[in-house]
Amino acid sequence: MPEKISGGCLCGKARFETTSEPVMQLLCHCTDCQTVSGSAFYTAYIVPLESVTLTEGTLAGFAVKSDKGRNNLRRFCQDCGTRLWAELESGIASVNGMALDDPTHFNPTHNHRPETAPDWCAMNEVLEVLPVSS
Ligand SMILES: [Zn+2]
Ligand SMILES: [Zn+2]
Repeated sequence: MPEKISGGCLCGKARFETTSEPVMQLLCHCTDCQTVSGSAFYTAYIVPLESVTLTEGTLAGFAVKSDKGRNNLRRFCQDCGTRLWAELESGIASVNGMALDDPTHFNPTHNHRPETAPDWCAMNEVLEVLPVSS
């Protein structure tokens, strides 16, 4: 049975709950994720959008079109700026796996967009590559 698991931002004002059973778990190497995370990839814990609930605090949002033309609403704490999830128009949320209170819930299953990873990034070749749908 899926349980509810919780997470939150760096300052502690924004708190959320989601499901312990993600659809998929990606290391996303797209350039937008690199910019917001300051890292070679973002830990994307993919769940149905309706399974994410903000339980405390207020989020800000920034709507952006991905380089594939899809709309993506990036949600973050308005006080400390921690990125908590992105809402994709396909009805899924890409939750920050490292913002979960127990980050051991995040276990990557796929690499996404490895072609835009920096040269110095050691790719985990054990993971399958998720094809990009256009
Ligand atoms: Zn915060
Ligand atoms: Zn990405």
